[in-house]
Amino acid sequence: METTKGRFAPSPSGRMHLGNMFCALLSWLSAKSRGGKWLLRIEDLDPGRSRYEYARLIEDDLHWLGLDWDEGGIDADGGSYCQSRRGDIYERELGRLMQTGLVYPCRCTRADIMATQAPHLSDGHIVYSGKCRPAGIEDAGREGHTSYIYDWKGGERAAAARIFVSGGDICFDDGHYGPQCIDPSRLCGDFVLRRADNAWAYQFAVVVDDALMGVDEVVRGRDLLASAAQQIYLYRLLGYREPAFAHLPLLCNEKGERLCKRDRSLDMGELRKTHSAEEITGLLGCLAGLTEKAEACSPASLVSLFDWKKVPLGDIRISPGTLPEL
Ligand code: GLU
Repeated sequence: METTKGRFAPSPSGRMHLGNMFCALLSWLSAKSRGGKWLLRIEDLDPGRSRYEYARLIEDDLHWLGLDWDEGGIDADGGSYCQSRRGDIYERELGRLMQTGLVYPCRCTRADIMATQAPHLSDGHIVYSGKCRPAGIEDAGREGHTSYIYDWKGGERAAAARIFVSGGDICFDDGHYGPQCIDPSRLCGDFVLRRADNAWAYQFAVVVDDALMGVDEVVRGRDLLASAAQQIYLYRLLGYREPAFAHLPLLCNEKGERLCKRDRSLDMGELRKTHSAEEITGLLGCLAGLTEKAEACSPASLVSLFDWKKVPLGDIRISPGTLPEL
């Protein structure tokens, strides 16, 4: 049996909150319950939002809870598990994609703003209009089609690299939410791989990294479930082996809104003042349906209890006021 390699891929744009820890713990448990390895990648693509101090705090919070990674982290291998250091690799892989003729220059402004952000559900969908799409691009790759020469340097502004999305469902079996069929041309249309300011887009970098780092199981919040379709589209074009995807319910506040890093009350800085690591682990294990009561325990003690069937499908509401007395 091949060893599983799971991963946790946080963006260092703030202190982690309970929802981020839930995701970290469950991706760790899923990998460990199958005797697999767990990798930590720092998704610091967005220069405006990523901070080194936050990346350090992510590592500290993971260590504190007892989640040790087998591979990756800030300092490993000369920083090569930090996306900000992987530009040459993205450049090379973009070059390969360009050979398909499906990547074209786009000088629209809106795309530049949205591109490097992981499109969490609450952000809504934007379907690209196709304004800059070259005529006849749908024939790229077909026999006899040779004119892939696009004008990258001309124009008044620098161009983003956008990939043409052919219509049609991408189907995959989510390890938690079951069979999915999503048509990326309806979800987002042609999407950006590299912004005009040269920042790499999340959708592209995450695929290149998971594939080249040998990740075969992607566990993360269900706000990224639909993104899996865009990502699988790229996996296929790049000839990479697709990982298994399993998405998690989101932790929400009392109003039903997804916890976010701006909302400090359930962030790890606050929680570590009032709870021990074992108490937080016990709470997360209980929220995940692995135990009946939130009793203090270690992540390792949850490994044998882990089963995707126990994990709820619906989002999980939690508020600071209702945190159980542990
Ligand atoms: N870096 C993304 C985030 O922190 C997660 C990406 C992923 O797991 O694919 O939201």
